[in-house]
Amino acid sequence: MTRHIFVTGGVVSSLGKGLTSASIGMLLERRGLTVRMQKLDPYINVDPGTMSPYQHGEVYVLDDGSETDLDLGHYERFTSSVLNRDSNYTTGQIYQTVINKERRGEYLGRTVQVIPHITDEIKASVRRLASPDVDVVITELGGTIGDIEGLPFLEAIRQIPLDVGKQNCLFIHLTLVPYLKAAREAKTKPTQHSVQQLRTIGIQPDILVCRTERPIGREHTDKIALFCNVEKEAVIEEVDKEYSIYEVPMGLVEHRLDELIIEKLGMEAGPLELDDYRELIHRIRNPRHEITIAVVGKYIEHRDAYKSIYESLDHAGFHHSTRVIAKRVEAEDLERQGADALLSGVDGVLVPGGFGMRGVEGKIQAVQYARENKIPYFGICLGMQCAVIEFARNVLDLKDANSSEFQADTQHPVICLLEEQEGVEDKGGTMRLGAQPCVLADGSKAQDAYDAVEVSERHRHRYEFNPQYREQYVHGGMIPVGTSPDGSLVEVVELNDHPWYVAVQYHPEFKSQPNNPHPLFTGFVGAALEKRQTRPKQLV
Ligand code: GLN
Repeated sequence: MTRHIFVTGGVVSSLGKGLTSASIGMLLERRGLTVRMQKLDPYINVDPGTMSPYQHGEVYVLDDGSETDLDLGHYERFTSSVLNRDSNYTTGQIYQTVINKERRGEYLGRTVQVIPHITDEIKASVRRLASPDVDVVITELGGTIGDIEGLPFLEAIRQIPLDVGKQNCLFIHLTLVPYLKAAREAKTKPTQHSVQQLRTIGIQPDILVCRTERPIGREHTDKIALFCNVEKEAVIEEVDKEYSIYEVPMGLVEHRLDELIIEKLGMEAGPLELDDYRELIHRIRNPRHEITIAVVGKYIEHRDAYKSIYESLDHAGFHHSTRVIAKRVEAEDLERQGADALLSGVDGVLVPGGFGMRGVEGKIQAVQYARENKIPYFGICLGMQCAVIEFARNVLDLKDANSSEFQADTQHPVICLLEEQEGVEDKGGTMRLGAQPCVLADGSKAQDAYDAVEVSERHRHRYEFNPQYREQYVHGGMIPVGTSPDGSLVEVVELNDHPWYVAVQYHPEFKSQPNNPHPLFTGFVGAALEKRQTRPKQLV
């Protein structure tokens, strides 16, 4: 019998529900249980693929090509839960399914309503993950208790215990316990109100995880327990972590959260296996080196726009016992101030993915600076396309080379629309998406890093390297070292006279884990560290 855990959040958004859900998943896996993770998002977009990173942060892509919420990135970094289309549902998707059914006549004769039709569809989406080989499904509900959009989802998860048995379900509510400096104390009232709101809907939380900036102590957690009708030991404080998000699971273990969940769900589980993880935390806390990587993008001020990139840099740093400082460079600032002003002294340059023209010229300048100054360069998706454009303009002497995404009438469209994209007008879910195989050339840095000839990586793009220019590039020294198996699409380019210059059309950042960093990130950070260590002393 699959058990269900529902994670809700109250008081404020950005409490780290995704991180907490992922940490719970990790702890249960490390007790030998099989876990599936899921996020329900109450917004009306069918998926976040059409939203700006300013709105929503990074769009996280899965192997099956679904464009999902960035919390799924946490799930994949912390657990080995299989994620696919069923791992992220939005209000838009639920309604789309119900409306399609209505059009097919599946509700013939009936009025279609939020309860039971929408709620039944939500329940079916949760239950779809349950199967005989799955011990626990963890479903995180996006948004905050009190949001109008969230109500049908709350109603649906309220009903699930009635369908599958109360003893098989657990409600975990995450809240904020703010510390008021003026009063010199932690305040429990917002938590009380948020739980009260949940209880009006008919959900009594079993466990409360209280996010706080500083330890709140037993007196406060006991008070919360009393007012919220939760057992004392089931009120757990989650204090902000000093070094890294990867410490979150350790904090939860200290409060025996794994034990509590397993007891409450009446499950049998093995002992907690954390030795390798403790060793990882030790490495995170005690780096031996430090390097700076410039990340040149255009959503720089949004904390989560390049989430997986920053995480992957960190993972590679853990591998090299190195603290990686990501210097966030706004591409338009670089256009105004020049590469020298913003990039001198960095140990590596990374240009991540992106869309639209704004900032592109700044990114191209960043690539040129890295190429000419032999600074390790890692280009990802648009970062690869910028590398190809820069090389055309400054080495191959194709002066107005560009991507047809930015300049439709360029004389040299070295980046052009993928053939399969011609005539595609709809914007949602229509890019080249998801896992695709790529074959790597012998002697390339990429093959060396992966230690493999064929790899599978996730894509999200409409444009590609224009095959008509391939010969010219090879001749000029930029080599297509990774292609689709039939050789038609260029997926990786490298420079042969540069210490480390690898640019990929795909998104390696979606497949890196703290204990299993992505090989290209490991290679890049390793090269940056080497550069740092061989720098003349006075500059270090
Ligand atoms: N805008 C480019 C394309 O569509 C790059 C996309 C990306 O970086 N994800 O091909």
